[in-house]
Amino acid sequence: MLKEKGILFDVTLCIGCGSCYDACKEANNLPKTSEDFLKDHLSDNTFNVIEQYDDLYARKMCMHCNEPACESVCLVGAITKTTTGAVVYDADKCIGCRYCMQACPHKIPRYEWGTTTPRIRKCNMCAERVSNGLIPACAESCPNEATLYGDMDQLIAIAKRRLQENPDKYYQHIYGLEEAGGGHVLVLSPVPFEQLGYIPELPKEAMPEFTKRAMEKIPSVVVGGGIFLGGMYWLTKRKNKIAKEERSKNEN
Ligand code: SF4
Ligand code: SF4
Ligand code: SF4
Repeated sequence: MLKEKGILFDVTLCIGCGSCYDACKEANNLPKTSEDFLKDHLSDNTFNVIEQYDDLYARKMCMHCNEPACESVCLVGAITKTTTGAVVYDADKCIGCRYCMQACPHKIPRYEWGTTTPRIRKCNMCAERVSNGLIPACAESCPNEATLYGDMDQLIAIAKRRLQENPDKYYQHIYGLEEAGGGHVLVLSPVPFEQLGYIPELPKEAMPEFTKRAMEKIPSVVVGGGIFLGGMYWLTKRKNKIAKEERSKNEN
C-alpha cells in the first residue's frame, strides 16, 4: 500500500525567492497573473501563493485535509481524497454547485468564472507528477528545503524534532497537524500563525461534521434549488460533451 504523503513548509527556511510559485504555474500550465508574485492571490490560475510579512514569507495552498469538508459536501463525488492523502478534483463529475468553496475551512477552492465550462481550481498535490514517480513541482524547485515533500510520518517527526531542538527559533505549534481535523500540509513558523495570515482557531474536529450541521440548517427549498440548478448545469455540460465527442467521431 502507498504511504501517505505530504508537504512540510518551514517559514524559517523560506527566502521568498518565488521558485515554488513559478514551478507550480509551469507544472499546471497556468498563465501569468501578476507582475509581482508576492502580490498575487489564489485564483483559478494560481494554486500556490507566497505572502510577505516583514522579513517572513508564508505559502498558502490547499491543506489536503484528512477529512476534507470540500469532499463531504460535494453531491456528486467530484472531489476525492486519494490513498496518498492528496485531495483531487474531477471536472467531468462537477455540477458547478460550488458548495466545496463555501465548506473549505481554509478558503482555498476557486472557480473559473470566466469560462463557459467552469471548473473548481486548486492545488492537487501535483497528483499527475506523483503518479509518474516525480515529486510536487514546488518541493522540487525549492532551493532551501523550505518546502519538503515526503512520507507524512517522517514529515511529522522532522517537524516535531525541529520544534524540540530549537525552542527559541520556532513558535511551538505545527499548523495543519490538527486544524480542522488535520491534513497533509504542515507549517512551521517563528511567530504565531495568525501573524502570517493562517486562519487561527480552527477546531481540532474535522470540518465535515460542521458542514453537515450547517447544511442541515439550510432550508430544503434552497438546497433543492441548488441541486436543481446544479443538475441542470451538469446535464447541459454533459450534453455539450457528448455532442463534442460525436462531432469529433464524425470528423474522423
Ligand atoms: S483545504 Fe479546503 S480545498 Fe483543501 S482539502 Fe481541505 S477542505 Fe478541501
Ligand atoms: S503541490 Fe503542485 S499544485 Fe500544489 S502548490 Fe505545489 S506545485 Fe502547485
Ligand atoms: S521556493 Fe522555497 S524558498 Fe522559494 S519561495 Fe517557495 S518555499 Fe520559499
